Amino acid sequence: MKDGYGRDIYYLRLSVTDLCNLRCVYCMPAGGVEKRRHEDVLTVEELEEIARSAGRCGIRKIRLTGGEPLVRRGIVDICARTAAAPGVEEVCMTTNGLLLPKLAPELRKAGLRRVNISLDTLSPELYRELTRVGNIEDAVSGLKAALDNFETVKINAVLIGGTNEPEIRQMVYITKDAPVELRFIELMPIGECAHWPRERFLENSAVLEAVPELEPCGTSGVARLFSLPNARGRVGLISPLSSHFCPECNRIRITPDGRLKPCLHSAQEIELRGFHGAELDAKLMEGICAKPMRH
Ligand code: SAM
Ligand code: SF4
Repeated sequence: MKDGYGRDIYYLRLSVTDLCNLRCVYCMPAGGVEKRRHEDVLTVEELEEIARSAGRCGIRKIRLTGGEPLVRRGIVDICARTAAAPGVEEVCMTTNGLLLPKLAPELRKAGLRRVNISLDTLSPELYRELTRVGNIEDAVSGLKAALDNFETVKINAVLIGGTNEPEIRQMVYITKDAPVELRFIELMPIGECAHWPRERFLENSAVLEAVPELEPCGTSGVARLFSLPNARGRVGLISPLSSHFCPECNRIRITPDGRLKPCLHSAQEIELRGFHGAELDAKLMEGICAKPMRH
């Protein structure tokens, strides 16, 4: 469906929990977030109803996210029900990957075909420092399980000045032999890192400066794509800071308690809980139409 500015809004990011098994320093407080009361979180049935309504409103792609989507009880069922919603052509997931060795085969059977795995560093020490509690071996096992089970696997790496910055070249060179897309995402000053010093927020041009042999090879959604000469994989640059992609924005978000956010960076929210059928469709369409031109 088109929003008020003629953009085709076909992509829903559906957050199924705000809990997580990691505590990434830029995302979560050290003690984690307070667990919501059971009744304050969308049920599996409500998530299915939202996916079906989204399909009726022109949403063709749903990304399951969080928090960490794999810690949500019933995630395989949620995946199957969203994938079965008429009109929804693709269900994908962004995950830290830690639980994929156990869940990937079931998720595949449930209809999941594409995953993005978050991995900001190749160093075991820095992985522990950034995630506060994680072991890099678990993330790597998750990545292998993903490559064994899913058609498309992308790696998301958030760039942090003075932290993983010296690893840029080494990370890019993974794509020489591995058939993956490594996507560098500019750190946005929201949540836990809202008041971090300026030098931690790097522009993606740092990747092209560190690896000048990268050649442009097109775009994919909001990512600009590059590849090393004769590489099997590619590198994507997602630059919410240095190049506003609001004019290309095609997404809406829904929080674990059922509030629709037309834009990540605005405070506006539309309550979806308690609405069903045509009324729920009208609420979703209201959210799509409320997308601002830019943030
Ligand atoms: N737990 C899952 C994961 O880490 O992939 C899914 C949720 S996580 C919030 C989704 C993505 O947002 C991750 O790739 C994470 O690195 C990224 N992210 C979190 N905080 C961010 C920030 N302030 N700026 C840019 N990306 C951020
Ligand atoms: Fe958890 Fe993902 Fe946030 Fe890291 S980025 S704390 S894995 S939700």
